[in-house]
Amino acid sequence: MIAHEARELAITHASDWRERMLNGSARATERIDEIFGIDVFGQRTMQQRLPKDVFKRLMRTIDLGEALDPQVADVVAAAMKDWAVENGATHFTHWFQPLTGLTAEKHDSLVAPDGHGGMIFALSGADLSLGEPDASSFPSGGLRATFEARGYTAWDASSPAFLMRGENNVTLCIPTAFVTWAADSVDQKTPLLRSMDAISKQAMRILKIFGTDAGVARVFTTVGAEQEYFLVDKHLYHARPDLLTCDRTLFGAKPPKGQQLEDHYFGSIPPRVLAFMTDVERELYRVGIPVKTRHNEVAPGQFEIAPTFETANIACDHQMIIMETLKRVALRYGMVAILHEKPFAGLNGSGKHNNWSMSTDTGVNLLDPQDETHTNMQFLVFLCAVIRAVDTHADLIRASIASANNDHRLGANEAPPAIISIFLGDMLMDIVEQLEKGKPSRTIKGGAINLGALSLPQISRHSGDRNRTSPFAFTGNKFEFRAVGSSATAAWPNTILNTIVAESLDDLATALEKAVGAKPTQAKLESAVRSILKDVVKKHKRVIFNGDNYTEKWHKEAEKRGLPNLKDSVSALPNFITKKSLALFKKYKVLNDAEMTSRANIFIHRYVDQLLIESEQMVLMGRTMILPAALAHQTHLADAVSSTEAAGVDCPDIRASLAEFVKKVQHFNAALNALQEADNFRDADGWETAKYLRDQVIPLMNNLREHVDALELEVAHDIWPLPSYRDLLFIK
Ligand code: ADP
Ligand code: MG
Repeated sequence: MIAHEARELAITHASDWRERMLNGSARATERIDEIFGIDVFGQRTMQQRLPKDVFKRLMRTIDLGEALDPQVADVVAAAMKDWAVENGATHFTHWFQPLTGLTAEKHDSLVAPDGHGGMIFALSGADLSLGEPDASSFPSGGLRATFEARGYTAWDASSPAFLMRGENNVTLCIPTAFVTWAADSVDQKTPLLRSMDAISKQAMRILKIFGTDAGVARVFTTVGAEQEYFLVDKHLYHARPDLLTCDRTLFGAKPPKGQQLEDHYFGSIPPRVLAFMTDVERELYRVGIPVKTRHNEVAPGQFEIAPTFETANIACDHQMIIMETLKRVALRYGMVAILHEKPFAGLNGSGKHNNWSMSTDTGVNLLDPQDETHTNMQFLVFLCAVIRAVDTHADLIRASIASANNDHRLGANEAPPAIISIFLGDMLMDIVEQLEKGKPSRTIKGGAINLGALSLPQISRHSGDRNRTSPFAFTGNKFEFRAVGSSATAAWPNTILNTIVAESLDDLATALEKAVGAKPTQAKLESAVRSILKDVVKKHKRVIFNGDNYTEKWHKEAEKRGLPNLKDSVSALPNFITKKSLALFKKYKVLNDAEMTSRANIFIHRYVDQLLIESEQMVLMGRTMILPAALAHQTHLADAVSSTEAAGVDCPDIRASLAEFVKKVQHFNAALNALQEADNFRDADGWETAKYLRDQVIPLMNNLREHVDALELEVAHDIWPLPSYRDLLFIK
């Protein structure tokens, strides 16, 4: 009945979006360049509103990470408050990213009593710089006991404050890091910032060796994350308890038409969806997010939004805002945006392709091959540093994207496998092979010039070269890490990437510095680069694979090469707390042992909690929705048989299908009982429970699902209690 009503509502309301679109059309005439960044307290606004010397000092904090003077903070806070109030803000919040994987905010009013019975707007430097939310309920993985629950949020001046506009409210959001009283990080931003410092320091050493550091103050990593998502009608979504509680369907038979025709990919965008996208983009432009691309994805009901890349910490903050905005704006159009990695079995899941590179603060992309000799050698050093890092720490890369959600996607046929390998493409592969041979011919003849000059036109010609099956692909002037999950925060995988590459750069810089000595000459440098990179390639080329990652052959080959294949989160997550990993994160001051251990604990607890919720939800739906529907259908059939036979007509076929159906219901019921009974094992720290869930409970969940999906294909449509895949998937 509920499913039926939801269907009716979905159909009626599908037309309401037209009205929305008309209402929105006034805004749609605004020029993008006029609204871009209008709700951001960005550089231009700061320059306009701050005294010159305050602005200068703030910029030193932003660009160089210098500590912010309290007096400067007071002036900045006052200007920020005036700007926010002029734009309608009544409250401010320290916006932070706790380890829940979401963002958190606690709003405080911008007004305070003036002491004479009235109110004045006020924001002090202290309010701006430091907050102390009562944050005892956020996960700390054992870092903080509740009796010492103090947590502090500290302004990240490098990520600009912005206005969050609700239906009738405007809030000033100050991006912050979140730490315990002992300054241990319990958030996503702090380690990301630390990892950016680490990689900057090591990359600067390489630039210095090549003499390209003039005028460069630091190196940033850059991130452009492509976000995939599904859109589902709101009424249908709410009629499915599994979507409501788990953001994915726990049951659902394959529809006759799924994505076989691949007619959705890059197809014309349905008008309602386009109206929604336009609205999302306008909101994002206002807060300074440079959205660039929109299109249909492969599965029906699946779409993508991608901004232009930015420095990693800003890109990751923006990524959080993008996800929130998708969710919030979808409701206006009677839809729900699903960010889960695998909301529908049998259809493509959603990823967040994480494009990653390194760039100087003067705007030179260090993974962009250029035509100057020394820069090309430099490019090869950076390239080989990434190859070395990914091979040395493939386990950490895999662990950085581990979640119960992403387990459904990785290794499925549309997503990269759990084996981490690098795609280079033919041209670059060729150059890497030459490096390995250390073949003097090309390098000696024209020195490194030839090496570089050869590479450039080839690379740019082939930058369109694609291998969609690779988890980590070089795509012209950046790497595309494709295994990141759609609902994940980009901050964490980028923290891992930055840290492991920092280590490789450190290693290469040390070797190069030693080889070229105090008086480097071009010749010394060239031969040092050649010999050092030769070793790197020899040792680490096993991680390079340019073929089809989906094939069974590759899995075998990868095993021969000794590459780890961590099939699920339970196998992947312990790699965060190996000796090797703890030493790495400590050495580069990204996370100390306690911080890293707490994170691993939080991740495994999240895995456990999520699976327990899913299995309980399955049992509940099975017991209270599916079983009654199946029995109603059984009764229908039985009534049909008995009344037909009572009328003196024989109906052996119907009688036989009744018998068959009864059997199916029995089997389903047994599967339901089995899952319900299994769900009882717990250990204190969660690691054993996680294994138990993976090995015992997930198979029972899969088994139950099979039975339910078989029933769905037989039970009368008007009795089946859940909107089906064919209802859900074709948003119009
Ligand atoms: P695709 O064809 O895979 O969609 P695009 O060329 O459209 O790839 O780019 C995808 C993303 O890569 C965009 O977000 C883009 O800004 C980003 N990107 C481009 N250059 C860089 C870079 N140097 N560093 C990080 N991301 C980048
Ligand atoms: Mg891409």
